[in-house]
Amino acid sequence: MSFSDIPVDVGPVYEGERIRSNQMYVELGGPKIEKHFELVKVRNVKDIEDGKVTLYGPDLKDMEEGSRHPIGILVEVAGKELEEDLEAVFERRIHEFINFINGVMHLNQRYTNWMRISKTAIGKGFNSFNMMGTVLIRLFKAELPIIKTCQVTFYTNVKDIEKPYKLALDTYSNRDERARGLHDGDVDMFYGCVLCQSFAPTHVCCITPDRTSLCGSINWFDARAAAKVDPKGPLFEIPPQECKNEMAGEYVGINETMKKRSLGEIEKIYLYSGMEYPHTSCGCFEAIDFFIPEVNGHGIIDRNADSLAINGLAFSAMANQTGGGKQLAGFNGISLQYIPSPKFQQYDAKKIGLDRGIDLVVWMNSGLKERMKELLPKDIIDKIATEKEVNDINNLKEWLKKNNHPIVKTWVETEEVEDNEEDYEEQGAMIPLGTQTMTIPGTGGFGGFKLILKNCKIHADTIIIKKIDTKKKKSN
Ligand code: SF4
Repeated sequence: MSFSDIPVDVGPVYEGERIRSNQMYVELGGPKIEKHFELVKVRNVKDIEDGKVTLYGPDLKDMEEGSRHPIGILVEVAGKELEEDLEAVFERRIHEFINFINGVMHLNQRYTNWMRISKTAIGKGFNSFNMMGTVLIRLFKAELPIIKTCQVTFYTNVKDIEKPYKLALDTYSNRDERARGLHDGDVDMFYGCVLCQSFAPTHVCCITPDRTSLCGSINWFDARAAAKVDPKGPLFEIPPQECKNEMAGEYVGINETMKKRSLGEIEKIYLYSGMEYPHTSCGCFEAIDFFIPEVNGHGIIDRNADSLAINGLAFSAMANQTGGGKQLAGFNGISLQYIPSPKFQQYDAKKIGLDRGIDLVVWMNSGLKERMKELLPKDIIDKIATEKEVNDINNLKEWLKKNNHPIVKTWVETEEVEDNEEDYEEQGAMIPLGTQTMTIPGTGGFGGFKLILKNCKIHADTIIIKKIDTKKKKSN
């Protein structure tokens, strides 16, 4: 396959290239544009004109430097062995293939896709969607030989994107609805995906009926179809084998695969926990489930949130901490489809005496709550705060009490534990593990201070406790 007719280099070496705002010529899609999408549809051979690229709206060369535009990418493919279940998996390859182009950065998927074209690429003559479409068609046919013919259509203006955008949303919603009807206990095979290892080398997605991939674009049916047609490809079977802990979702077969595919970095995962051995997070996750220690509950913020989370952090700030293939207790990259699953963080909930994982959730950004409204149990939805009701953690506690959120009953239990601890201290008994109280004398003031660490794990190379010499400070 040759790209000698394309004025910039094309190859996997350019995956991971970042284009900062000062290097960017033009931005397509992304959080500041309302409607954008990418979609793959399987068609009949007779309905496809192989190699054809069509554009509705302005071309790259007609766009002003520094401007932003809608972007719709519709890839239509045909081939005797193709089936509809493969569409989502093919669609995820758009991200990979566009990132092969030197000077083009592609992020996210579905209706959150976001691209930047660099000034350097435009300067070299990469100034037409026809070139981008040609690269996509060649790569789709070369990398996925079951695709025999392929055509690509781009939409770059507000008017023309309307109809295909609706088609895309309906397609995503049908895929998600089908997946919601199936649960982990109904199947005897799970699937893995390592497509994101070019960005996050230790990340392996484990895709089960209850846990759609973090990017939200590959559900269990899609993964099954992909592993069937290309068993040596980036999606593969994971035989679950023995279940070691049903509540946590710990399986021998998943642990073995994680260890092998993460090159020994990840020893085990709990599918249904964000707090202990959580699933790794790459960077493409649709949302972040984060622990809020002050109320013992969880918050969820999605990629489209336009306000800060209740902990004062933006999605992007938390995403930097969460992603990269790490396994970080308390920060878990998730798909939106995992939230309504009955398995959602069930291990964390049961551990603190709640019936359902969703009862842990005390805060969501308002856009996400609106999207989830119809999918979540009716008795919890009004008890979840958003940025519209509460804007800081101090107010959140009162709001949850007022709305009788189930998390509140876990505070009562904590208060009871505190009383017991005082009894233990008076009797000189050992404090139960997991709730440690330390008094550090001589650190300033009278009698030092008391640290109470409840249900927490701290990992630190060094802790430095410095005495502040108040007299010295005054004399300065
Ligand atoms: S997030 Fe997971 S399923 Fe989605 S492309 Fe990346 S590795 Fe594959």
